[in-house]
Amino acid sequence: MSKKTLGLNTICTHVGEIKDEQFKGAVSPIYLSTSYEFDDVEIKRYPRYFNTPNQEFLAKKIAALEHTEAALIFGSGMAAISHMFLAFLQKGDHIVVQNTLYGGTSNFIREEFHKYGIEYTFTNGYAVSDFEAAIQSNTKLIHIETPSNPLLTITDVKGVAKLAKSKGIVTTIDNTFASPINQNPIDLGIDIVMHSATKYLGGHSDILAGAVASSQEHIDRIWNVSKNLGGSLSDMTVWMLERSMKTLALRVKAQNKNARKLAKFLEGHKDVSKVYYPGLKNHPEHELAKAQMHDFGAMLSFELVEEMDAMSFMKQLNLIKPSMSLAGVESTMLLPSQTSHALLSQEQRDAVGISNQLIRFSVGIETYRDLKFDINQAIINTKTTTFA
Ligand SMILES: *Cc1c(COP(=O)(O)O)cnc(C)c1O
Repeated sequence: MSKKTLGLNTICTHVGEIKDEQFKGAVSPIYLSTSYEFDDVEIKRYPRYFNTPNQEFLAKKIAALEHTEAALIFGSGMAAISHMFLAFLQKGDHIVVQNTLYGGTSNFIREEFHKYGIEYTFTNGYAVSDFEAAIQSNTKLIHIETPSNPLLTITDVKGVAKLAKSKGIVTTIDNTFASPINQNPIDLGIDIVMHSATKYLGGHSDILAGAVASSQEHIDRIWNVSKNLGGSLSDMTVWMLERSMKTLALRVKAQNKNARKLAKFLEGHKDVSKVYYPGLKNHPEHELAKAQMHDFGAMLSFELVEEMDAMSFMKQLNLIKPSMSLAGVESTMLLPSQTSHALLSQEQRDAVGISNQLIRFSVGIETYRDLKFDINQAIINTKTTTFA
């Protein structure tokens, strides 16, 4: 049976497991060796070569989920991004990147690329025409991120992939926010998919990891650079990631469902002035999201009305945790104006639509009514403390 014909939960549970031939145990054994017998195979097993049994087998699960031939697992999402970029870019090359980009990726480009003589352009917007306008004769890569952080804009994945293909440019996507459960960019024409596995793939806020999935040809090219840069993941954590991924589809689907209900609830709340969620009909790219995603994900943002202090609201939450990261089974919120976008001036924040009232919500798997209750009581208590 081909992997594509297996159901999602079967892939999550079983693809890439290592059979315990010796003791017939139920789960994959961990192989912690950093030293393997010297034989005449071309590439020796070594953790930095991404080819220990646990690394190799888990990569199969990620490849199956992203409909690719191959995958590599990294020590962090940033290791995945940086190794991927450096595999395709060299001195004199140019990359086009979406303007609304994960902060770490943006920093990597702005702080490191000039050292390598790599040119870059951040797009003015996220329409296909914005990408087209940024392309130069030396453009080798286009990198997109959709849904974006924190305003959940949706980029036309097929449109960008088609544009790039017509010019012989390789495309990469950060698929972290969607997870492979909600979006498979390879099927939309993208060449290489990457994930911060720290987020949904790990899902329990206890693993730092990354992954890249693509054709064997592209993966070989990335591997050649990655073995020199050395960003692989330890087998102990690879094993934990495999265990976490068994419930990936279950978790993400539960999170999607909660997020859809909470987006509707917030949209109807009189103290909430705006909700950003691609699953809502009034989201500007709702139809596009519907066409290219399997579901709308569990990340959303909302703005409280002007009279309510967002920081006070955050302090009133009991169940939902204020947290920098996202995608765990537990619900978390953060204020982009105080965290990811804190270093920008008020004018710069206004220009990118990050108001002081904006709250990013990573929806977990808790019971919906408990999450709704927590938000409601936090709003009521914010009002009474503010106006008392
Ligand atoms: C967290 C994150 C990253 C970086 O991943 P790390 O595992 O923290 O290195 C990249 N992209 C997105 C969208 C993220 O949320």
